[in-house]
Amino acid sequence: MSETVKNVAVLGSTGSIGQSTLAVIGAAGGQLRAVGLSAHARTEMLVEQANDVRPAWIVATDPQAARRQDWSRLPAGTELLAGPSALESAAARDDVDVVLAAIVGSAGLRSTWAALEAGKTVALANKETLVMAGPLVMELAARRGAKILPVDSEHSAVFQALQAGHAHEVRRIVLTASGGPFRKYTREQMAHVTVDDALAHPTWNMGPKITVDSATMMNKALEIIEARWLFDIDVDRIDVVIHPQSIVHSFVEYVDGSVMAQLSPPDMKLPIQYALSYPGRTVGISPRINWTECWALHFEPPDLERFPALELGREAARTGGTTGAVLNAANEAAVGGFLRGELPFAEIVPACRGVLQNHNFDPHPTLDELIRADCWAREEIARWVCT
Ligand code: NAD
Ligand code: MG
Repeated sequence: MSETVKNVAVLGSTGSIGQSTLAVIGAAGGQLRAVGLSAHARTEMLVEQANDVRPAWIVATDPQAARRQDWSRLPAGTELLAGPSALESAAARDDVDVVLAAIVGSAGLRSTWAALEAGKTVALANKETLVMAGPLVMELAARRGAKILPVDSEHSAVFQALQAGHAHEVRRIVLTASGGPFRKYTREQMAHVTVDDALAHPTWNMGPKITVDSATMMNKALEIIEARWLFDIDVDRIDVVIHPQSIVHSFVEYVDGSVMAQLSPPDMKLPIQYALSYPGRTVGISPRINWTECWALHFEPPDLERFPALELGREAARTGGTTGAVLNAANEAAVGGFLRGELPFAEIVPACRGVLQNHNFDPHPTLDELIRADCWAREEIARWVCT
């Protein structure tokens, strides 16, 4: 490991978080280096990124896209890695100090696992890893002495606010949620939303899957589960409050009644940068709050009737076992169905509930059993979409 420069493997570099990460690295004045990149389908962008940042290696994970791509424009000195386990071996390479896990969905699990097994620090954007396999992932990190630093803005905020006290002094954590584009929609209006409506998030500019998750509020459900395992906190001490401006990224309430929060304009470059500069802080490129303007912050309780995903998240966080993996996979498949025009928006959460109710619960699954539960849930959703 280098003394002065941190070598960052950016897994999922062509996505929204991946691109923001490269911007943070580019502005770090040589303190950070993108040592490796990975992409699935957008291989042309991967080649462009490789020419910009000159990494030691890149991984192309989609074999069809990799075959179609002309790799002759890769810079000399950048190695092209391909094949099913390339991502896992890349995440564990000696030249990697930190893995920025920015692959979307359960596809990010194995490379995060490999990085932790190799004792790497993981800056974790891929919340689905903890939703699927939280207890196993946290146990692996502890056993291998590997750090998991949250990139999800709410969890980064909680992580920062937790530094004001001790774990036994925390009464509860409160995750903020923008409420998404349908915060004020009636059920009747929600029955008619289109893909374009769901992809128009009011405050955050993100990849399509998480944008739809924000619209159903499944994103907050997944974040409850993520927080439960990451901070080892009982689900009954995790609350959610709607905060449409996305300025306060979450709260920690201590036993004496003090509440600590982290505030900043909605921009993922800040939590990414904090995970990469931790335990220090560095000057960065994220926008700042303008304190010379008049402004007010708005908070309201979530409507559990219109956003039933929240209760599903609580149930899964409380039950553990295979439940997180099943909910996560059902949701990924249902969102995929919605984006392809095969499943109405209002069916996403009921479909997830239906699959959860039918599943064969296992309280102590292995990683392979979780992956099998993930495959099973996807097949169930495929049947739901067809009927
Ligand atoms: P995105 O869709 O913009 O990018 C996804 C990345 O993953 C791309 O680089 C893509 O090539 C890669 N990828 C997709 N499928 C893959 C597969 N099967 N195998 C390997 N790589 C694959 O997604 P995003 O919005 O950047 O989100 C990435 C992760 O970060 C998600 O887990 C999301 O929940 C989390 N996150 C995102 C934001 C945000 O603002 N975008 C905020 C918090 C957390
Ligand atoms: Mg978040």
